[in-house]
Amino acid sequence: MVDILEIIRLVVQSQKSTRDGLKHLDEDLTYNQLFRKTSPDRKEKAENIAIVKVQPVSRLDERKGILKEKTLKFWARSQTTRKLYEGKVRYHLNSLGRWNGYITCGCSCPDYKFRWETANHRQNASQILFSNGEAPIMTNPRELPSLCKHLAAAKPFVLKHAPK
Ligand SMILES: [Zn+2]
Repeated sequence: MVDILEIIRLVVQSQKSTRDGLKHLDEDLTYNQLFRKTSPDRKEKAENIAIVKVQPVSRLDERKGILKEKTLKFWARSQTTRKLYEGKVRYHLNSLGRWNGYITCGCSCPDYKFRWETANHRQNASQILFSNGEAPIMTNPRELPSLCKHLAAAKPFVLKHAPK
């Protein structure tokens, strides 16, 4: 016998994934897309950044038994200036609790705060955590998305802690 609830669940799920799919094509960015859009000099400077601590946090949907939320907090220190900044990546999960490659990120450094936070926010890739949310008229007038050197330096950890 066909389980009507199962059919409803499948229909709802397929509608959800279609909606998500369209939204992602139009707006969202994956970590890898953001990394590719990051300037070569930032990636070069990222080699001088030490990730000194990472803090992954997972939250389960108890009822469904799947991952509901996963974030990775990290602290990044410049080996030359010794300045320490705090970064954050939230993995976007699909209805099965798996990472679909998209992220929301943030970093407390001035480069991220004044250049990238609002621009990334427009593509659903950043929360307004560290800036005042105003458009970066002087620093990034075309509002191009990017990572800062700290978020670029965290790449191995972002990928390592990604929900499978
Ligand atoms: Zn940064």
